[in-house]
Amino acid sequence: MASSTYRNGTPKGASKPIASNLKSSSFKSRIHPSHSSGAVLRRNSFSPNANAVGDDGVPGRVRVAVRLRPRNAEELVADADFADCVELQPELKRLKLRKNNWDSDTYEFDEVLTEFASQKRVYEVVAKPVVESVLDGYNGTVMAYGQTGTGKTFTVGYLGDDDTSARGIMVRAMEDILADVSLESDSISVSYLQLYMESIQDLLDPANDNIAIVEDPKTGDVSLPGATLVEIRDRHSFVELLRLGEAHRIAANTKLNTESSRSHAILMVHVRRSVGGGEDTFSSEIDSSSHLVKPVKPLVRKSKLVLVDLAGSERVHKSGSEGHMLEEAKSINLSLSALGKCINALAENSAHVPVRDSKLTRLLKDSFGGTARTSLIITIGPSPRHRGETTSTILFGQRAMKVENMLKIKEEFDYKSLSRKLEIQVDKLIAENERQQKAFDDEKERLKCQMEYVESVKKLEEKMVTNQKKHDHYDFIKDKCNGEVPGTTSEEVDEIKKLLQNETQLRKTAEEEVNKLKSQLENFMLSMAGGDTEIVKLHRILEDEAHNKKKLEEEILILQSQLLQLTLEAEQTRRHLVRVGYGNGFAGSDSFVSQIRHSQFKDAGNGQKAPMATLFEQVGLQKILTLLESEDANTRIHAVKVVANLAAEEANQEKIVEAGGLTSLLMLLGRFEDETVRRVAAGAIANLAMNEANQELIMTQGGISLLSMTAGDAEDPQTLRMVAGAIANLCGNDKLQMKLRSDGGIKALLGMVRCGHPDVLSQVARGIANFAKCESRTSMQGMKGGRSLLIEDGALPWIVQNANNEAAPIRRHSELALCHLAQHEVNAKDMVSGGALWELVRISRDCSRDDIRSLARRTLNSSPTFRSEMRRLRIEC
Ligand code: ADP
Ligand code: MG
Repeated sequence: MASSTYRNGTPKGASKPIASNLKSSSFKSRIHPSHSSGAVLRRNSFSPNANAVGDDGVPGRVRVAVRLRPRNAEELVADADFADCVELQPELKRLKLRKNNWDSDTYEFDEVLTEFASQKRVYEVVAKPVVESVLDGYNGTVMAYGQTGTGKTFTVGYLGDDDTSARGIMVRAMEDILADVSLESDSISVSYLQLYMESIQDLLDPANDNIAIVEDPKTGDVSLPGATLVEIRDRHSFVELLRLGEAHRIAANTKLNTESSRSHAILMVHVRRSVGGGEDTFSSEIDSSSHLVKPVKPLVRKSKLVLVDLAGSERVHKSGSEGHMLEEAKSINLSLSALGKCINALAENSAHVPVRDSKLTRLLKDSFGGTARTSLIITIGPSPRHRGETTSTILFGQRAMKVENMLKIKEEFDYKSLSRKLEIQVDKLIAENERQQKAFDDEKERLKCQMEYVESVKKLEEKMVTNQKKHDHYDFIKDKCNGEVPGTTSEEVDEIKKLLQNETQLRKTAEEEVNKLKSQLENFMLSMAGGDTEIVKLHRILEDEAHNKKKLEEEILILQSQLLQLTLEAEQTRRHLVRVGYGNGFAGSDSFVSQIRHSQFKDAGNGQKAPMATLFEQVGLQKILTLLESEDANTRIHAVKVVANLAAEEANQEKIVEAGGLTSLLMLLGRFEDETVRRVAAGAIANLAMNEANQELIMTQGGISLLSMTAGDAEDPQTLRMVAGAIANLCGNDKLQMKLRSDGGIKALLGMVRCGHPDVLSQVARGIANFAKCESRTSMQGMKGGRSLLIEDGALPWIVQNANNEAAPIRRHSELALCHLAQHEVNAKDMVSGGALWELVRISRDCSRDDIRSLARRTLNSSPTFRSEMRRLRIEC
């Protein structure tokens, strides 16, 4: 190794870091490096300004990225039928966490890195800005937090021996540092440590296993004088050092009988840079009276990069460990939960940051504080089986970001305010319409007057025409008599002339008036037509608005009920937590069985009404049921979810059935709705099918055919699980056996094993066991003879095949089904030829359940066919 090794500690006479007053313009926009000397790091070094203003202008926040690991080989097989429990929207920097089959929460992060994100990109967005600020003289930290196996070490410590593109943050950071410094004047040295059970071990010198943290009381600087410090001069020696550290880590962990996932690995990179002797540069070591005369000394800027691969976060939640494990859980808890508290305090600009609570936070003290930059990468896996751990990891990241994720609530608020706005708009439109109506009536009145006027003008015209005729006649006579009208005097002629002039004048005025009126009439007609379309338009807008309002009301209704549902869930969780006596596990099971189990939800006991009762009162069941038939698909989906949640409460089931809810749910199954609606509806039906009266109702309403149809064409394992669960419940009713079978119930049940999902298989096995049990009951009562309908319908090979399934529920139900079938001599021959005898013998010997084991033994001994076959095969039982 090219590097020299020496003990850490502040070498005598070493220059202290100085305030940056370099001329470089790039520094102007940057943060001020930490003063390790002089001004002591104040408490508020953990304030939001601590990390200074980032490139994006967000001051001092811990930057948090989330990275999703691709499915591993095991998950590709085991979760093949399931969607990942998270969905990433990297362009929006959002992550959607599926809560159950139909609900998800959305979170925002500074960076969202998908399973396809390259190591290079991860380094660039998460660590590079920190490394750059370390090169500028500030302390910086990059930490990886997450459940074991989600990729913390891959992200931070992977060496990339076989594939250089896979090298992690440690190697890339060192490459960038080496590229930036000048090895003549600058120096880089590293320590590599492991923190396990509040004790710090030196990964570069394993004998060194209880290193003390020393804190300078004046400056607040943290150092580890006992830790090996190795100077790094090239990439190769650094990678070798990491390799050596990793080997020591494995050895130490073997000795301590632990795994590396339980310890924190910490790499500290100390960078010392000399910053030349320019005119403006002065040394903090030169006292103010002499610095003008003494020659300028070279200045050294010190900074520290801390890269932390944290212990698996799942340890934080584990409780009930024993002995050493318990101590270990507590210690790992201590460091990780102290880290969580410090990050919270940092995020909230709290006056007190409890750095002293653990070794980890003490060690990180000066990397968190002052002008240090901190990046956190949280790593998660895609498997829905680890939803609980993934959720708590995400929440840790969210707390670190201090972003309140109120997306849902915001939406709800928006709906309300939008509804209010629309109401105001509708009111305005109604008023406007009224005004227009009034104007229209006035206009009509005016029109009537004008019509009368036109009438009078017409009369005038007629009169004028008569006068004209008279006038023409007069002209004619005048012509004939050369101006002398026989038999008339000149006075008379003058009078007639006058009259004529008058009439002409009148006619002219009338003509003008008529023209004016005509054009007025035309204009009016035009404006009337315009007015009509305006009114039609307004009517249409009004209708639209009314429709929108109705829709919004529906949505508000649904949001209200969702809110109540959430209250209910929260209450259930609280009770669950109280029961288990621990504040972390989230029993987010959505199976209808567990919903039933968790639904002992009556009066809260303190006089307050239970949320569901409030839901009934506020929203009204009938109203929710009508929404199931809403034209809007979205509304239907919401409504069916509400009904399903209500149906999970035993206390509501009767009310739902009485109000016709069962019929509506069955109808939804039959309408080839989308998968979510079918899945949720089937879940609700499965819940209702727990009750005997409902089972009969389902049968009379053709439910078994609808369920069989869904069983035949659904692909989503969760839909199939719900359908199988519903049929399995029906299988447990003695009275329904014949009809269930003749309507294809058994075939439908068996058909669903094609999906192969263990949850579906376990419901199928339960159905078969229920059916076999009923058959055995009815034939004991002498109500049924003949071979089992299950055997008739070809179920036996599947039962035999699964009687030793590794999944306990499938195995237990199949074993029970075999025992029940075996109780009838008529079935014995088929069972012998189908290989069931071997399974029965096995069950009678090694079934873990006493009751099943002795049932199998009894059954074998009481059947002549089995007894003789066993004698023939020399099997002892
Ligand atoms: P952790 O340190 O969180 O326990 P690891 O880093 O050891 O997890 O990762 C577990 C396994 O998953 C390792 O085999 C690792 O190579 C693999 N892995 C983790 N993240 C990724 C990724 N982003 N791409 C490919 N493989 C990964
Ligand atoms: Mg690891």
